Amino acid sequence: MAIGLLAGLLVLSFTSLSPLLFLPLVVFASLWPDVDHENSKINRLVPVTRVVPIFFSHRGFFHSVFPPLAIYGLIYYAGLPQIALALTVGYCSHLLSDCFTRLGCNLIHPLSTFRIQGPIFTDGLMEYILFGTVMVANGALIVVKLVA
Ligand SMILES: [Zn+2]
Repeated sequence: MAIGLLAGLLVLSFTSLSPLLFLPLVVFASLWPDVDHENSKINRLVPVTRVVPIFFSHRGFFHSVFPPLAIYGLIYYAGLPQIALALTVGYCSHLLSDCFTRLGCNLIHPLSTFRIQGPIFTDGLMEYILFGTVMVANGALIVVKLVA
């Protein structure tokens, strides 16, 4: 969610939506890829999605580029390009942040087994340092873009 907010703040100047709508959409969509994990925040917020982990493996299809492409295409052609942008930025920010972890992401699942992996262990010290850094950046960007 912190990286989702950072992504939203970084692309804020590319949307005509109010930050009060755009940023919550980005942050909410940043939760969506973990719909494939039974204890994820999105599955606790939206209980109907709890069936997804029964059929999809964690960091499988929902951690590929295909869902955000579909989301963007469907919502864009429904006439809501700014909403499509917000949801896609949020979704992709999650995929990007997962690529920095040791478990990584297979962005073209199920077409390949290739995973992009990074040095960060989930719940490890580096993750907390990154989280703190991102939150400081978020605070600075909120001041610069929204308050000043
Ligand atoms: Zn994830």
